Amino acid sequence: MNFANVVDLAARDVPGKPATGDAGRLLTYAALSRRTNAAANAFARLGVDPGDRVAVCLDNRLAFLTAHLGALKRGAVTVPVNTQFTDAEVRYVLDVSDVSVLVTDEAFASVADAVDATLTVDGSAGDDYRSALEAADDEATVHPRRSDELAEILYTSGTTGRPKGVRHTHGNVVANAMGIVTALGLTREDVGLTVCQCFHVTGLNVTTTPLLLARAENRVLPAFDPDRVFSTVETDGVTYAFFTPSMVIDLVEDGGAASYDLSSLSTVGVGGAPMPKGRFEEAEATLGCPVLEGYGMTETTPLAAFNRPDTPRKPGSVGPPAREVVALRIEDPETGDAVARGERGELLWRGDTVTPGYERRRNDAAAFVERDGERWLRSGDVGRLDEDGHLFVVDRLEDMFTTGCADVSPREIEEALYELDAVGGAAVIDTRDDLKGAVVTVVITRTDDDLTAERVRAVCDERLEDHEVPQRVEFVEEIPTTATGKVDRVTLREAYGNLRS
Ligand code: ATP
Ligand code: MG
Repeated sequence: MNFANVVDLAARDVPGKPATGDAGRLLTYAALSRRTNAAANAFARLGVDPGDRVAVCLDNRLAFLTAHLGALKRGAVTVPVNTQFTDAEVRYVLDVSDVSVLVTDEAFASVADAVDATLTVDGSAGDDYRSALEAADDEATVHPRRSDELAEILYTSGTTGRPKGVRHTHGNVVANAMGIVTALGLTREDVGLTVCQCFHVTGLNVTTTPLLLARAENRVLPAFDPDRVFSTVETDGVTYAFFTPSMVIDLVEDGGAASYDLSSLSTVGVGGAPMPKGRFEEAEATLGCPVLEGYGMTETTPLAAFNRPDTPRKPGSVGPPAREVVALRIEDPETGDAVARGERGELLWRGDTVTPGYERRRNDAAAFVERDGERWLRSGDVGRLDEDGHLFVVDRLEDMFTTGCADVSPREIEEALYELDAVGGAAVIDTRDDLKGAVVTVVITRTDDDLTAERVRAVCDERLEDHEVPQRVEFVEEIPTTATGKVDRVTLREAYGNLRS
């Protein structure tokens, strides 16, 4: 079961239907099928055998997709690489994943010596990607793969340390795409928008691969820009889009939405980081449709939980676990005992979307545990299930801390602050003080200069426990984020206090 078969099946059924497009071109399913055949044959000519690794280090564009699917058709394993990595980080990935061919552009032409062959989309090094495809035969058969054979290696965001290479089998990719199509009710009538980067699970597996499975259309933007998002929705009649929480907040704060007709939008997904509870209402008002939060991780391809368009949503919940593809266990992280319904504990996952393991096998030891004879993935996230089976993600275990003897969840403090209009962004960290130990510190961007530290503390005082009231308030122009839009707490801790020992 090679996932790339979906392209050829669609090409047979709906050959003239638009499949995917970027600013430059729009390919029909028939054209996408031929183009990915040519890519598969071009890789074969470069010596890529089934099972070999092909890295793609490009921002969102058609060439990303044709290289990815072409590599899959060849039976090879794609390794999408974060374009914001430094040369050294890209070399690390090429080395760890034993990559033989790299598809990239000028930005990473300098690492060409680390692989057997390079194809560049702008002719900056090695062979030209487009010419290689033009020279290749565009008839091909898809190399058969079993569902337990590898399709892609995706790297995590590196929020808690060095990004980890996560192995996804063809079975993982199919189950994830099927799960998302089912959860969100996507059909071939949908026009999707891919604005999260395809080198991350969000761009690749929350929009791109489910849209292919549904035989829907996909519009790909190279980078996030509110104006481009709004104008693409209006011009192309986008019905489904997925954003990170920071993108949704930017879309609201941009203020430009009112100048566009966004009425085609019917489903907007958000996830990859916690979406502040207090921001849904304005997001739905701006976008004119339900904003459905989902939760997942690179290790779950990423589908683990998603709100559904047809079932009631609860503020702050990431929806029910996607039982079509995964099972959830919530346990006490210290004892490993399952907690009672409603109690908080670490989320553990197993099932069709869960990775068989990491590229570096030594990472597996900490991530997988056996419970009742089954192998479960530890997420490092704390959450709880309510009486109706809705999942609430509390925080990352690693971000939670204790002051004195009381537990602090940064997210709960952040949620309280997001209720204030004058707060643009808020991130809570623990900084260290020789006398006091952990100090609750909040870093804030404000949209109104009148917001003072006293007011911040007063609001927290009203809504939170005493030990959660920030002792230190820092106003900043911008909160540092990682390449996938998450708060970069490591940088914040470095900037405002002692690093954790
Ligand atoms: P690394 O594993 O390298 O430290 P990372 O965990 O940020 O980085 P990803 O796989 O991109 O890498 O992100 C998965 C994590 O994102 C989850 O474990 C969870 O902490 C967070 N996350 C994703 N969606 C949500 C959500 N809706 N609410 C809260 N947290 C979320
Ligand atoms: Mg992680």
